[in-house]
Amino acid sequence: MSKIRTHILGYPRIGEQRELKKATELHWKGEIPKPALESVGKELRKHNWKKQAAAGIDLVSCNDFSFYDQVLDATCLFGNVPARFNWQGGKVGLETLFAIARGARETQGDCCGGSCGSGSAGFASEMTKWFDTNYHYIVPEFKADTAFKLSDSKVFDEFREAKTLGLNAKPVLIGPVTYLSLGKVQDPANPEFDRFELLDRLLPVYEEVIAKLADEGAEWIQIDEPVLALDLDARQKECFIESYGRLAKAAGSAKLLVATYFGELRDNLALFLGLPVAALHYDAVRGEAEADALLAAFPDDKILSLGIVDGRNIWKNHFDASLAVLKKAKAKLGAERLWVSASSSLLHTPVTLASEKKLDAEIKDWLAFADEKLVEIVALGKLLAGEGDEAELEANRASQKRRLESTRIHNPAVKARLAAVTPADSQRASAFPLRQRVQREKLGLPLFPTTTIGSFPQTAEVRAARAKWKKGALSDQDYDAFLKEETRKCVAWQDEIGIDMPVHGEFERNDMVEYFGEQLDGYAFSQFGWVQSYGSRCVKPPILFGDITRPRPMTVEWITYAQSLTNNPMKGMLTGPVTILNWSFVRDDQPRSVSCKQLALAIRDEVLDLEKAGVRVIQIDEAALREGLPLRKSQWKEYLDWAVESFRITANGVKDDTQIHTHMCYSEFNDIISAIADMDADVITIETSRSNMELLEAFVEFKYPNEIGPGVYDIHSPRIPTVAQMENLIQKASDVIPEGNLWVNPDCGLKTRGWEEVRPALINMVEAARKLRAAA
Ligand code: GLN
Ligand code: ZN
Repeated sequence: MSKIRTHILGYPRIGEQRELKKATELHWKGEIPKPALESVGKELRKHNWKKQAAAGIDLVSCNDFSFYDQVLDATCLFGNVPARFNWQGGKVGLETLFAIARGARETQGDCCGGSCGSGSAGFASEMTKWFDTNYHYIVPEFKADTAFKLSDSKVFDEFREAKTLGLNAKPVLIGPVTYLSLGKVQDPANPEFDRFELLDRLLPVYEEVIAKLADEGAEWIQIDEPVLALDLDARQKECFIESYGRLAKAAGSAKLLVATYFGELRDNLALFLGLPVAALHYDAVRGEAEADALLAAFPDDKILSLGIVDGRNIWKNHFDASLAVLKKAKAKLGAERLWVSASSSLLHTPVTLASEKKLDAEIKDWLAFADEKLVEIVALGKLLAGEGDEAELEANRASQKRRLESTRIHNPAVKARLAAVTPADSQRASAFPLRQRVQREKLGLPLFPTTTIGSFPQTAEVRAARAKWKKGALSDQDYDAFLKEETRKCVAWQDEIGIDMPVHGEFERNDMVEYFGEQLDGYAFSQFGWVQSYGSRCVKPPILFGDITRPRPMTVEWITYAQSLTNNPMKGMLTGPVTILNWSFVRDDQPRSVSCKQLALAIRDEVLDLEKAGVRVIQIDEAALREGLPLRKSQWKEYLDWAVESFRITANGVKDDTQIHTHMCYSEFNDIISAIADMDADVITIETSRSNMELLEAFVEFKYPNEIGPGVYDIHSPRIPTVAQMENLIQKASDVIPEGNLWVNPDCGLKTRGWEEVRPALINMVEAARKLRAAA
């Protein structure tokens, strides 16, 4: 029996207790010097490699570590530093790297945070989502005259570092086609410049890096090309052929592994299989349905790395199912040409279950975080090679069976209720024009009504009180009294400055998803299940494990209390089902659409309870609806259909005179505007102030029929907008939106801002609305 090789594409870098986050933020505050931060990084790498080796992983990775982001690391490696950071050439240091990510210190908060592209300020590079994950990368910037030069030694340093520990690590690089594809041309003189023309200038640096790594003794080099899971145009395909023809030659004694992940290859399959490299990595989790086609066409001269352990979710691997796929691959390729791996980098999973002391034992038994996935990969490799531990296989089977049969997961009443949903459940009684009329009568709002998106500042005081209460140092009663007082002050202040539709302020909420997850049955929470979101920021997604029910009302007490404090219509605040789903780890034993509709029914009950309690206006936030879009356009419709239906099930059971709001904080609506209109919310509030109302275009062109509140105050910036600025924005909006349909509100919630910013900004906002009202 010959052994099967195991490896991973990358390991989480943040540390078991978010050590990297803590050190990085201390460094930013000036509390620890650069060498101290660097040594935290070094310790983490060592610890991570040792864990991989101890688990029995054959080939550990290096350069998967980063102080901020792996795409930004590539930018530094290639010396592609935008001119505004005044980098003088030579080696790109951590200072410059952090400046690109966060803006140069002396100009922070200046200008517009980068979107205007003007001036000499060192504003940060743009950040955007890494494929369909919640990880964000720093967008590379290109110009017609961009030149590349090897300018950083990180990848070589890490390779040597691993070597001193006796490990011949596999350096990981972002591939050239992915790097160019993910970047953006920012060249006012040549806005139409085709960034793929830079390939010829970029490849020599890759050749140099690869040759150097080979010289240093690297046996394998991993090159990530996840764009292979996207729709590629002819130009990108040509770039693949050109790139890998050259890089394969540069590799010398080293061998190249090209990795794709996050989706099927479809029309890119032949291109992928034809790349002239020694090994190819494939995501067999997302690509499960395509795996047979891949195997049938797999060339005779290459190694296949099969990513069979899910790098994107937290469920224990189903060994029998995985072995079935692996055995087919082994039969075709032989043990020598098959490696076992995780589908993608483990960057997208929490570090270890070992730290979880409070997680329910039954649920913990179903889970695997990064460290447990290492063990699974090794176990699968051994079982496949016939050297496995049968007891381990039996234990896995037993655990799968427990999960399958658990009454914690399966609730027949929920399944029956979902099966009984009819189209009438997601349909308002009357069409919008009639609803608009009765709502106007009932609410009695002025022209250009003012409101906010929901949250008010989560001050240090609010967070401290919550922390104290969680530790048990503050009683339920005292915490409740504290929150009530915060809410009371907030409502009174909104009345005082003349906000037409107040909110309660969301002081009782730690997070817009966690708050609801904690009150729903079918959700579990980890203590340390952090995943990097961007830079030092991490999120701890709740775990949706079972059929969803709402044991009791979740927000009714807060909203009715807030309503009792004012005569103005209080807007009740809920998070929508699609957003809750997209910001959670979700079940792998049923389609996402089913989980989403279960959430929809639970929140529908909350909506109806609010209505029953006399709440006249209910906002259902769908901040994350857009980010759930599949990677391939051909799958958008299916997603949007069930996402919109879920929202409609949640919202549309109310009477005509109950006003439904929704909120979305995106910057792009063009391609989904008809789905948004299908949601049929009475009012939608969106982000637009940063784009000077340009984002409204999609709504105008579509002749969006319902009411709309284009944000007039950019809450992402600490600057306080003036009356004139906001008047100007409202004026612009009222040129294209019927006056009676227009609301006045900020871009998003105010929880990250301080009261000293929020107070003058909202006073100005109310004043701007009044002025326009007077002039109308
Ligand atoms: N109601 C939420 C808040 O105001 C909405 C946040 C969001 O859209 N991200 O904080
Ligand atoms: Zn928002």
